[in-house]
Amino acid sequence: MVYSQFVDGVLTTGSKRESWLNYNPANNNPLGEVFQANDQDIEAAVNSSEKAFHIWRTKTGAERGRVLLKAADILRSRLEKIASLETQDVGKPISESLAVDISSAADAMEYFGGMAAGIHGEFFDLKNAFGYTRPEPLGVCAGIGAWNYPIQIAAWKAAPALACGNSMIFKPSELTPATALELAKAFMEAGAPPGLFNVVQGDGRVGGMLVNHPRIAKISLTGSVSTGKKIFAGAAAHLKRVTLELGGKSPLIVFEDADIHNAVSATLLANFYSQGEVCSNGTRVFVHRQIFDSFLMKLKDRTEKIRVGDPADPDTQMGALISKAHMEKIIRFIESGKSSGATLVTGGFRPEKDFKGRDITSGNFLTPAIFTDCDDSMEICKEEIFGPVLSILCFDSEEEVIERANNTSFGLAAGVFTNDIKRGHRVIHQLQAGTCWINNYNITPIELPFGGNKQSGQGRENSLAAIQHYTQLKSVYVELGDVESPY
Ligand code: NAD
Repeated sequence: MVYSQFVDGVLTTGSKRESWLNYNPANNNPLGEVFQANDQDIEAAVNSSEKAFHIWRTKTGAERGRVLLKAADILRSRLEKIASLETQDVGKPISESLAVDISSAADAMEYFGGMAAGIHGEFFDLKNAFGYTRPEPLGVCAGIGAWNYPIQIAAWKAAPALACGNSMIFKPSELTPATALELAKAFMEAGAPPGLFNVVQGDGRVGGMLVNHPRIAKISLTGSVSTGKKIFAGAAAHLKRVTLELGGKSPLIVFEDADIHNAVSATLLANFYSQGEVCSNGTRVFVHRQIFDSFLMKLKDRTEKIRVGDPADPDTQMGALISKAHMEKIIRFIESGKSSGATLVTGGFRPEKDFKGRDITSGNFLTPAIFTDCDDSMEICKEEIFGPVLSILCFDSEEEVIERANNTSFGLAAGVFTNDIKRGHRVIHQLQAGTCWINNYNITPIELPFGGNKQSGQGRENSLAAIQHYTQLKSVYVELGDVESPY
């Protein structure tokens, strides 16, 4: 396979570019060659996206919506093919790619496609005059993606951007180049003008070229806090708009009156879905002292039954980590937890065989890990690990747990389990996080805004809130009388 630039409706040849191989995380066999975009590629992408923008912005909302809805249908009709590409690139179980990744991308295109005709301004009745506002598109926007949900991230950015009349240049992570190209093809086949959604490949240097390009109006990043800070600083030099969807170290609080079975189910979802490589994961699990032992016993029992293995097998529940380097980083976190005095209750080792007895030593597999005897100051309880590692922390009172949960520079997500309706809301209202759940975790319907507070981000994706981030408001005053002038 060759992964190159998709510019102006055409997949370019990648020759004479810097290139590298990308690998299947399940066995570290090469999947293809990725060609890094160069200056000319970026210039061609910006020229083509500008051209497409001038065509697209004159379409009615209903016309734009139709293209998005058709592209969503195309994605859904190619579900199995795209899910299989995503599983090969990311290492996540095929059951997840089939159930979540592609349909979540299509959901965003249907939601914003349906909304495109309804994007409107306001009318103001004034004295002998009136005024109105127009939400206008920004121009060429750039999306920069992380590797954990490649097509979902691309669609969560492209759908609102395009619905609002913008064009987009998208750069997927250098580790997962495949499915953004499938999205680009779907837009073209759905009738989008060439250049409306261009894809450029490459690492942070290509991201930097997009951030610094004077004719790109906005940057939307999904990535780590450190990349977010660099992009924020780079965009500030041009006073560019940004949306930043960054990392987290989110708290999941289980009170003594919670339904323990549901709380354990949510803790598993909040930590081990997609090998734990999910930004909003609730990796600090605060459990009330009264139920601590029974909670831990049930959690350990169910964690040990998770079927780790070949991501392409439909029975697999946990696949392989994105790269060897990332796996080694997670192993270092696990060693840090042990040496700081936490107890590794289960997992955290590289399995030799998967749940069907197949040799998996060539892949980046780790068994799901639970730490207990943790202290808030330990590295494993403070840093984002981005892998299948959770820390259980014991608490006694509501006030105490709120203070400890908020004692972090991150603010992406939070969850509370309790059957006391008043306490559920009271606690959630005091948690410093942008995306919260009561009695569930990591559910992200397209209707609800998603994003972080504190160092976990700026702006919101999904929902009506995303429209504000892809439009600029123009106010128009219309005089109905004479001009009153003192001169
Ligand atoms: P990363 O920050 O290393 O890279 C993200 C993207 O930014 C990549 O495409 C990369 O090439 C690009 N990039 C890197 N340096 C850049 C620079 N200086 N200028 C412009 N672009 C640059 O993150 P990652 O390892 O790909 O993804 C994991 C991180 O993403 C985690 O921290 C995770 O929490 C976060 N994430 C957040 C969300 C969210 O919605 N909040 C969702 C998924 C992942």
